Amino acid sequence: MFSEKMLKLGTNRSVIRDLFEYAKKRKAEIGEDKVFDFSIGNPSVPAPACVREAAIDLLQNEDEVLLHGYTSAQGDAGLRRNIAEYINEQHGTSLTADSLYITVGAAASLTISLTALAEDGDEFITFAPFFPEYRVFVEKTGSKLVVVNSSPEDFQIDCEAFEKALTPHTKGVILNSPNNPSGVVVTEECIKTVCGILEKKQEEYGHPIFLITDEPYRELVYDGVKVPYLMNYYDNTIVCYSYSKSLSLPGERIGYIAVSDKAVEWKNIYAAICGAGRALGYVCAPSLFQQVVARCIGKTSDVSVYKKNRDILYNALTEYGYRCIKPDGAFYLFVEALEKDAGAFSEKAKEFELLLVPADSFGTPGFVRISYCVSTEQIEKSLPAFKALAESYGR
Ligand code: PLP
Repeated sequence: MFSEKMLKLGTNRSVIRDLFEYAKKRKAEIGEDKVFDFSIGNPSVPAPACVREAAIDLLQNEDEVLLHGYTSAQGDAGLRRNIAEYINEQHGTSLTADSLYITVGAAASLTISLTALAEDGDEFITFAPFFPEYRVFVEKTGSKLVVVNSSPEDFQIDCEAFEKALTPHTKGVILNSPNNPSGVVVTEECIKTVCGILEKKQEEYGHPIFLITDEPYRELVYDGVKVPYLMNYYDNTIVCYSYSKSLSLPGERIGYIAVSDKAVEWKNIYAAICGAGRALGYVCAPSLFQQVVARCIGKTSDVSVYKKNRDILYNALTEYGYRCIKPDGAFYLFVEALEKDAGAFSEKAKEFELLLVPADSFGTPGFVRISYCVSTEQIEKSLPAFKALAESYGR
């Protein structure tokens, strides 16, 4: 009568959403400020002023019919040109508007790119810990998600394990750096090794393997850490970007896909991306926000707040006896649970009004994710609860 697969997806909510719903209920019971809700990656820093200024100006001064009308399916040509020029200026690439496809955020960038590439029997590799929706997106195309564990000490890519996971069926590799949930930025050395392995395997298998880089957190990095631009290391690269985090616009749904102009048959890949966007029914990205981001290119929200939160939380938690991966980017702290079962640990943390996401669905059991995109005041107020939780485990 209907799709069992979709029924399962719709009824088995993600653990993050479950915790988020629990937070709403609990806040209504005991008060907003008494629940330390670290469940979801909703930016806590407001969008930069340019967003409001652009929206107001556009709404007051532009032609209303045009402003709210459809744009080209691949997005407004002026916006695509501006983004291409910005990427070229930042990273020395040679993209044009014809490489850019505007989407409704990174999730759409990924589903469109995967749909454009996938053929029967294909496999896509990703690295644990990973954004759990990858499994949904890859499996929806009929392909298989192959998960490679990262090195347990620093959560960088385990390149040996990666090489072993590649097969003649591998169509692509999804790489997310800065990473959700670990906050790790993959080092340039590691990127070079991964790209070297991909080059070798393309040669061996006689077909391209695409690198799909999921980069909604590109600008959220601390202490001067650099995020290598993958197109400069590997030709068959497709960048999936979003303004959800960099401009704090997750609810407005706006991002893009950039296809490297050095990728094999890149014009056909781009055409397949247009076809996938059409088949998935995206039509075009929101017209108003295409115009807004066109006026905010190169701007970001104030990420210094996230760095401050990271420092306070990381220093306090390590002092209390937690083992944490020090994140260089994004706004997540990845913490080893104080008992083997991260689900049980997350339940225990609820007794202290701490809402921590168990990382089993990220492919890394035994860890929890703390989204520190909350106010610094909330972080400070939560510290006694973290201390008490550690003490309840004898730390
Ligand atoms: N990829 C990663 C790694 C994410 O963390 C998220 C959202 O949190 C997304 C993709 C989806 O982002 P968007 O809201 O732009 O669709």
